[in-house]
Amino acid sequence: MKEKLMRFMQGRYGSDELNITLLVLSVILSILSPVTEIFSGLSMVCLCYAIYRMFSKNIYKRRCENAKIVPYFSFIKAKFKNKGQAKIFMCPKCKRTLRVPKGKGRITLTCPCGEQLKRKS
Ligand SMILES: [Zn+2]
Repeated sequence: MKEKLMRFMQGRYGSDELNITLLVLSVILSILSPVTEIFSGLSMVCLCYAIYRMFSKNIYKRRCENAKIVPYFSFIKAKFKNKGQAKIFMCPKCKRTLRVPKGKGRITLTCPCGEQLKRKS
């Protein structure tokens, strides 16, 4: 049985950060589903997409999807983590998260990729 499952999963994508986020989102939406029917439908869509990604054999495409979405998750996570202490910016070129202490006025940020951002902290 274990060998059959291993053979079935061979060459398939498996799980990553985006899949875990989709599954958590699906659980949260299913908990909220008694509020409206839309949450129930969205929960099923998230779950089906996570399962599709998990069993997909197009590994390159799944990795590209993950690489596109994960910087936004880390940006949101950093924003919540540094709330009130620092300002968080995302480089438009390389999608890297930049952290600046709050209350420094207008500043010019230089990303490690060379992009310069003029922002207010
Ligand atoms: Zn950059």
